[in-house]
Amino acid sequence: MAKPHSHLVLENYIGGTFVPCRSHIDSYDPSTGEVYCRVPDSGREEVEAAVAAAKEAFPAWSQRSPEQRATVLNKLAELIQDNLEDLAQAESRDQGKTVTFARTVDIPRSAYNFRFFASSALHHLSECSQMDHMGCLNYTLRCPVGVAGLISPWNLPLYLLTWKIAPAIAAGNTVVAKPSEMTSVTAWMLCKLMEQAGVPPGVVNVVFGSGPRAGSALVSHPEVPLISFTGSTATARVITELSAPFCKKLSLELGGKNPALVFADADLDQCVETTVRSSFSNQGEICLCTSRIYVERSIYPEFLERFVAAARKWKTGDPSDGANNNGALISKEHLEKVRGFVALAKSEGGVVHCGEGVDELDLPERNAGGYFMAATVVTGVPDSSRVMQEEIFGPVTCVSPFDTEDEAVSRANGVRYGLGATVWSRDVGRVHRVARRVQAGLVWTNCWLVRDLNLPFGGMKHSGVGREGGRDSYHFFTEVKSVSIKH
Ligand code: NAD
Repeated sequence: MAKPHSHLVLENYIGGTFVPCRSHIDSYDPSTGEVYCRVPDSGREEVEAAVAAAKEAFPAWSQRSPEQRATVLNKLAELIQDNLEDLAQAESRDQGKTVTFARTVDIPRSAYNFRFFASSALHHLSECSQMDHMGCLNYTLRCPVGVAGLISPWNLPLYLLTWKIAPAIAAGNTVVAKPSEMTSVTAWMLCKLMEQAGVPPGVVNVVFGSGPRAGSALVSHPEVPLISFTGSTATARVITELSAPFCKKLSLELGGKNPALVFADADLDQCVETTVRSSFSNQGEICLCTSRIYVERSIYPEFLERFVAAARKWKTGDPSDGANNNGALISKEHLEKVRGFVALAKSEGGVVHCGEGVDELDLPERNAGGYFMAATVVTGVPDSSRVMQEEIFGPVTCVSPFDTEDEAVSRANGVRYGLGATVWSRDVGRVHRVARRVQAGLVWTNCWLVRDLNLPFGGMKHSGVGREGGRDSYHFFTEVKSVSIKH
């Protein structure tokens, strides 16, 4: 293992300056199991300084015109694009994902988040309504809220952080962000671009550290009136409790247990190819990954055979090898948790068709200590099992047959989550019916992960509260007033 002093040591970014922290947390390279960098273990004091800097920067930033703010956001997008390769390499090393995924998804999307909200912020209209019989004209005014607290997870680190920073500052807020302590490097690299992009000191502050220390200090800070959180449902409960005494505005983007409903008339070529991708992309560590596949009984044997064959071709290994589809899972603990679900499935009579415990991974020497797991397909698990009810967040998916449309919908809805769903059928009437009945904030028919940033993004039930996306983000990051003027 490399000597501690050779590790990257991150610093907080407060008021436009990098500020060292007294204590640190080790963060690992999941593909080797070795320490990659040391992340500030910030607490109340650091959060206090960041909130003060954000408060000070708020009046001037909020008074800039949307065009002036958009110029800064576009410059940030350009700088991310210019540094794409370095950012992709760092994201892969920090998170375990393949460099290819970071290069083609995470980093381009991070740049696009800034570009999209720079443009979107120029097109919002307020509402106006006439009340002639009262001699009144009524309209809405929207104002930035103040200091926004932004908390993001480890699975799509820069992508999900910028999904919050971009709309927050485009709307005129200033921010204090806290990325996941397991994946902080690209956020720190983004801070290095702030000055060059013309982001005034204090508009974007980043405090690194753990959830219980830095995160909860941010959530319970009285001068942070809104929190946008993406992460697990369990953490969302804590955040809701911590923020309740302050009546904060909350946006919660949480976990999922996303079903795919495959009807007999589906285009199976397209369905199998996409459902392998939707189940296993990014090691299955995307909140929108498919983890329950319900297949109409008449095509179940054919689907299963083709799906398992395609899953076997989904290669797992060294994240920097362009031939691999998947890299390593985020941590040793997480790998154990995901393996535990496969063991539970087996103990309940489930059959593991490929992946964990069935296929050996062929890893290079340097990856021997990494947290790898092959794409795993399970059948024969009852819907009541924890395997079918809880979010696994790894490369594991379960397949099960169904007989009727009603049954498919009711089983899809039989979990506490409601984030995403995919529906596979060429019958337009059916896809309309099922899309309406399935309990999910996002329904993809004959596709997956098509993202239109103008549309609301978020989940129902335990998958979230509120929506983000073009107008929804603008609404969340502004406070609305209704004004009546009488002549
Ligand atoms: P997590 O809830 O453990 O952590 C998320 C963030 O919250 C981290 O920055 C963490 O440090 C912080 N945190 C933890 N405890 C806190 C506390 N007490 N106060 C304040 N902050 C605290 O989630 P994770 O394991 O990093 O991410 C995986 C989860 O995120 C999965 O459940 C996944 O489905 C979900 N997710 C949801 C979406 C979505 O858009 N719906 C997107 C990506 C990930």
